Amino acid sequence: MKALQYRTIGAAPEVVTVPDPEPGPGQVLLKVTAAGVCHSDIAVMSWPAENFPYALPLTLGHEGVGTVAALGAGVTGLREGDSVAVYGPQGCGTCPKCAQGKENYCLRATELGIFPPGLGAPGSMAEYMLVSHPRHLVPLDGLDPVAAVPLTDAGLSPYHAIKRSLPKLVPGSNAVVIGTGGLGHVAIQLLRAMTAARVIALDVNEDKLRLAREVGAHEAVLSDAEAPAKVRELTGGLGAEAVFDFVGMEPTVRTAGAVAAVEADVTIVGLGGGTLPVGFGVLPFEVSVMAPYWGSRSELIEVLDLARAGAVSVHTETYSLDEAPLAYERLHHGKINGRAVILPNG
Ligand code: NAD
Ligand code: ZN
Ligand code: ZN
Repeated sequence: MKALQYRTIGAAPEVVTVPDPEPGPGQVLLKVTAAGVCHSDIAVMSWPAENFPYALPLTLGHEGVGTVAALGAGVTGLREGDSVAVYGPQGCGTCPKCAQGKENYCLRATELGIFPPGLGAPGSMAEYMLVSHPRHLVPLDGLDPVAAVPLTDAGLSPYHAIKRSLPKLVPGSNAVVIGTGGLGHVAIQLLRAMTAARVIALDVNEDKLRLAREVGAHEAVLSDAEAPAKVRELTGGLGAEAVFDFVGMEPTVRTAGAVAAVEADVTIVGLGGGTLPVGFGVLPFEVSVMAPYWGSRSELIEVLDLARAGAVSVHTETYSLDEAPLAYERLHHGKINGRAVILPNG
C-alpha cells in the first residue's frame, strides 16, 4: 500500500510503498477514509537526530478515521464496514490513569513502548492502518469522515483544555484564543457552544482572523505587541477569565500572561517552546497555568456528540495522499485556513 512517511531527519515526508498490514490477535485493520494534518507533525519533523524519540521511517498521521476492513482473532463488538474514529493517545489500559479513562496520561506507555499512531506507531496517512485494540475506536454514527477526522485532535485537544475552565466561563466572562488555525478555530466554536463567554481571537494572519469571526469569535485582534493592551481594553481593564494559547511561542505565552484576569486559567496547548514564569506578583493573583496533552476517549465521544448536534463544524480542505507533502508545506507557510485533510483512498 501507499503511505506518507517521514524517513530522514530534516527532509520532507515522502509517499512510498510499504507492505500491506495484517491484523494480529486483538487488532483491527482500518481502511483509512481521512487523515488530518496537524502542526505537531511539523514540530516533530524539526526535532534534531540526537533526541528524536521515534524510530524512522515513521508513517505520519495522528488524526484518523476509517472503515473496519478486517478484525484480528478474538476481536468482538465491531463489524467490517463500520465507520470509526481512532482515539490517538493510547495507553496501557490498566494503570491508574488509564483506569480513570485518561489514557493520554498513561503512566506506563513509555516503558511499554506504546506510541500513538503517527507519533511513533504507523499512522493514518496510508491506505490502511492497524489499531492495537478495539477500545481505541469510536463510532462515527453518521458523521462525515472529512469533517470528523480533525475532531480527534484539533477538536479533542481544545475540548480538554476548555473543559477545565468551564466553571470560570460564566456569563459576562471573557475567553481569549491565541492562534486560530486548526485547533484554534475549533476552540472558538467549542467555547461558543459550551459557554456564555465573550470570545476574543488573536492571530497574526488576516485570513485566519476572518475565519475566527466567521466561526463565532466576538472580537478578532491582530496578535502583535499592542494586542495585550487591546484585550485589556476589550475586557474593561480586567483581562480574560480563560486564555488558550494554540501557538505557545515566547511572544504568545507572554501575551497569554498579560491578558489573564485575577484567578484566570492560562492553558498553553501550542508546542512553540515558550515558557510563562509563575510566582508571586509575576501574574495576577491565583492565575493557574497548565500545559495539557490531547484528551481522554470519553472527551472524544463528547466532541463527536457536539459535532452531531451541529455545534462544531471544521473548516477543511482535502488532498490526495500524493499531495500530502504539499499540504504539510502549505501548513508550514501558514497557508491552510482551518484543517488540511488527506484522503488516502480518495
Ligand atoms: P495551525 O498552523 O493550524 O495553527 C496555528 C495558528 O497560529 C495559525 O493560524 C497561525 O497564523 C497562528 N499564529 C502563529 N504565530 C502566531 C502569533 N504570534 N500570535 C497569534 N497567532 C499566531 O496549527 P494547529 O495544528 O492548530 O496546532 C496549533 C499548536 O497546537 C501547534 O503548536 C501544535 O503542535 C499544538 N498541538 C498541541 C496539542 C497538545 O495536546 N498539547 C495537540 C495538537 C496540537
Ligand atoms: Zn496533533
Ligand atoms: Zn496506562
